[in-house]
Amino acid sequence: MNAPLPSDLPEHPLAAALLGEPGPAQRRAMAKAITLLESTRADHRVQADALLTGLLPHTGRSLRLGISGVPGVGKSTFIEALGLDLIARGHRVAVLAVDPSSTVSGGSILGDKTRMERLSMDPRAYIRPSPSSGTLGGVAEKTREAMLVCEAAGHDIVIVETVGVGQSETAVAGMTDMYCLLQLPNAGDDLQAIKKGVMELADLVVINKADLDDAAATRAQAQITSSLRLYGLHGRPDHAHHDTAIWHPRVMRMSALKGEGVDAFWRAVTEFQALQQANGAFEEKRQQQALAWMWERIQSGLKQQFKAAPAVRGALEDITARVLGGQLAASTAARELLAKFSGDRNPEDSKDQRHA
Ligand code: GDP
Repeated sequence: MNAPLPSDLPEHPLAAALLGEPGPAQRRAMAKAITLLESTRADHRVQADALLTGLLPHTGRSLRLGISGVPGVGKSTFIEALGLDLIARGHRVAVLAVDPSSTVSGGSILGDKTRMERLSMDPRAYIRPSPSSGTLGGVAEKTREAMLVCEAAGHDIVIVETVGVGQSETAVAGMTDMYCLLQLPNAGDDLQAIKKGVMELADLVVINKADLDDAAATRAQAQITSSLRLYGLHGRPDHAHHDTAIWHPRVMRMSALKGEGVDAFWRAVTEFQALQQANGAFEEKRQQQALAWMWERIQSGLKQQFKAAPAVRGALEDITARVLGGQLAASTAARELLAKFSGDRNPEDSKDQRHA
């Protein structure tokens, strides 16, 4: 029997508390909802899907901000300063983390609850560490879903934080509206060390710890600015420089520790948002992200089904050995396994094919 579709299920009991008034009951519901989403049990997944479907109409109204940078660059110092500033202005802030290290070792580069101590104690903020199991893809999926929970609960600014390892930057840039990269003042001296792909994702590059060496920070700012131009502004042609209707990545200096540059950062963010909303890029990016997410999940779901299919399981070891031994080309092996997989799913079709 097929499992019921999430849209056919009754509303999940956590939905009412999540969509209700801010306060301890809502916080507890958020924590429970995110734990449910992170669970790998099949029955929990069905409940989680029902919950997400119920929450979806109440999501999407936040600004999703991605922030990444190597450990020690000052992410938590910065997010705490920014977050406290934002809640003082009446916003409700959520901070989620994607930490690939936690998926491998169970430990975490992003650390535990002691980070952002003041922000985490404020009832207007919600901070959730990275899920500590699963692949990066799985962790990214859970973080996307946790983001929807935070939005449904009325958090209008969701910050997704990550460290610069394991492709997590791409995952975070793919789930946020604006992606910001934190750099150290000496970054400009060794541009080779900055991964080109990551730089291309950035809407805003922030040179933090400018208080330590202002000259180096200014140099880094100039070097990164010119390299962003060389990279061609997200692949757009050079004449795009002069087009004021689209966003051009910027580089700014900051001292998160002293709180200098945090205001300017937020002004840039609001400018970005206004521009992208006016030229349609904001909505278009979200739509593309939603579709990309759907296909990513289809791919990973199919791969799981593929590996679990009896005909594939029965042949996988032998075929793998033949590929390793050089007796079978990888592409032929893939075709053979795919044929077994579709034969498993449609026994009648494959009989027809054999007789044809
Ligand atoms: P994260 O690992 O990226 O989250 O980095 P943290 O926020 O934990 O910061 C690492 C260290 O750098 C801490 O000791 C901070 O106090 C310090 N730090 C962060 N921002 C600045 C800054 O703007 N200037 C200086 N001098 N130190 C900073």
